[in-house]
Amino acid sequence: MKVIDYIKESDKTLFSFEIIPPLKGQGIEDIYIGIDPLVEFGPKFINVTYHREEYKYKDMGDGLLKKISIRKRPGTVGICAAIMHKYKVDAVPHLICGGFNVEETENALIDLKFLGVDNILALRGDPIKSEQVFQAEKGGHTYAVDLIKQIKDLNDGKYLDDEHINSPSNFSIGCAGYPEKHFESMNLETDMRYLKAKIDAGAEYIVTQLFYDNKKYFNFVDKCRAIGIDVPIIPGIKPITTLRHKTFMPKFFHIDFPMELSTELDKCKNNKEVSQVGIEWGIQQTKELIESGVPSLHFYTMGKGTAVKQIAREIF
Ligand code: FAD
Repeated sequence: MKVIDYIKESDKTLFSFEIIPPLKGQGIEDIYIGIDPLVEFGPKFINVTYHREEYKYKDMGDGLLKKISIRKRPGTVGICAAIMHKYKVDAVPHLICGGFNVEETENALIDLKFLGVDNILALRGDPIKSEQVFQAEKGGHTYAVDLIKQIKDLNDGKYLDDEHINSPSNFSIGCAGYPEKHFESMNLETDMRYLKAKIDAGAEYIVTQLFYDNKKYFNFVDKCRAIGIDVPIIPGIKPITTLRHKTFMPKFFHIDFPMELSTELDKCKNNKEVSQVGIEWGIQQTKELIESGVPSLHFYTMGKGTAVKQIAREIF
């Protein structure tokens, strides 16, 4: 079933979360260990992130370097099939532009259609470590909006090879939004104009970047409504659990901590204390979001569901 239909059918805030494929060489059990503790909260759908290849240069010993492609976290499509089968929930694979040309994207979409996957979160992807700025694959998409258009075309039965009549897909498409703006964007308004283009192209809901200040989310929703974005906007939540998160979150996700939170975090001496503050903050934050009527909560588990479980226990 489609995410958008779960939202339409529900009269209360839904619980959902995203998982990260395990590192290459690990097994599917590592995925189940992350999901099992959260099943009791009744997720209707689970997102599975997609991770691009990175490149490493191997010294060949003769003065030459060989470029080797490494997929650190493979398996998004297979993991989706496994969790749909095991938990009887819908999987939402993340599909990205980076690393794919349009033919490869179409093949991935066809595989997902065969598997009975009804949902896709369409994203551009970040630049890989060896790139200063995002570079599209040759013959691939530069922006998420172009990927959304390709998925929409498939939903209309338009495949790249238009000589044959093909059966249309029926994917519900989600996209990303940034309450504190995307880091490359000149300003929030410009970023939101491009967000609107993704909705106009066929995205039916937005999942936000993680944030810790609800005021920023509410402000973002108001601004979206003002420019005619009327789709559900699912807030992204990530509990802070380690001392490292104090610098990692702002640096990696380009977000600010509210003063009240940073003051509390600065008093913490170890991960245990940080985790207590993070969970308490997460509870207050999500309670307020639920009271405001958000359609669903999207928890970023990043492979560790313990803190999410403690928050979910208090709010669901
Ligand atoms: P876009 O919507 O294409 O926007 C990228 C930038 O380009 C923005 O600054 C935007 O304002 C600008 N822009 C958009 N359209 C145009 C245009 N037509 N002309 C000029 N500028 C334009 N990354 C992964 O690699 N794998 C994942 O699984 C993954 N999951 C994510 C899940 C969520 C909920 C979120 C919020 C992010 C996720 N990301 C993931 C990260 C995401 O790929 C990055 O944030 C990426 O840098 C931007 O992706 P996007 O889809 O928002 O891009």
